[in-house]
Amino acid sequence: MAEGKLAQKVALVTGASSGIGEATAIALASTGAKVALAARRTQRLKKLVKRISESGGQAMPIVTDVADETQVREMVNKAAGLGNIDILVNNAGVMLPAPIEQANTEDWRRMIDINVLGLMYVTQAVLPLMKKQGGGHIVNISSTAGRETRSGFAAYDVTKYGVVAFSDALRKEVHKDNIRVTCIEPGAVSTQLVDRITNVEAKAAAEQYLDIITMLEGEDIAAAVLYAVTQHPRVQVNEILIRPTMEV
Ligand code: NDP
Repeated sequence: MAEGKLAQKVALVTGASSGIGEATAIALASTGAKVALAARRTQRLKKLVKRISESGGQAMPIVTDVADETQVREMVNKAAGLGNIDILVNNAGVMLPAPIEQANTEDWRRMIDINVLGLMYVTQAVLPLMKKQGGGHIVNISSTAGRETRSGFAAYDVTKYGVVAFSDALRKEVHKDNIRVTCIEPGAVSTQLVDRITNVEAKAAAEQYLDIITMLEGEDIAAAVLYAVTQHPRVQVNEILIRPTMEV
């Protein structure tokens, strides 16, 4: 494993305990990177570390709530213990759709705290390290919900449009420091994302929609992350939009 294109590189992946983050951590590790795995569910992180280690890779679990700025700073310090942080994949997120009038405003706060502020805290904490080491690559996971709105998804759309805007402005600030920024916008991916929806009607509608299309898999998004981070240093992949074939 350590002989792949990312040998000697260190990657920090948030939301690594399931779905896209888990698949991305496996893909990065199997390309030679040492991976720091951040999320809240300890047992799932430990299992993933075991899986990566058994395949010859190196991984470290870091139990973190990205919505907590203090925990984020501790997470970044721990990850830096693997060496540099060459690659950051800002993936942790929740999707809690509901019509605006009926929405639980606690769900709005959770989405903004995790999807937007969490991603911004992690980015801010990593930047001084990347600058000091002479460069790095930040990959932010937005969504097709960051490109077009959908009825019932207003607050989630706010967060994912936010990730697109933040990524674009970040790239303009840090390109001079040899830090590349890539924003990835997936359509429907088969993960645990829908399981956490709190609004009963919105959950049923999401499940019904997902039943009739062939969704992407976490590995498909991991392949896009890998594509972006293994390009020649002169290449900066700004955005990747990926939809299931059956989605428009
Ligand atoms: P999952 O629910 O499978 O994964 C979400 C991950 O985020 C989990 O590892 C979860 O870990 C972590 N997470 C959630 N809250 C926090 C928190 N407060 N602190 C740290 N980690 C947290 O869903 P996906 O893999 O689908 O989601 C990953 C990203 O992809 C999200 O940003 C999502 O918005 C985005 N996305 C997903 C799409 C899809 O169709 N699935 C489409 C487009 C974008 P834990 O609970 O252990 O903390």
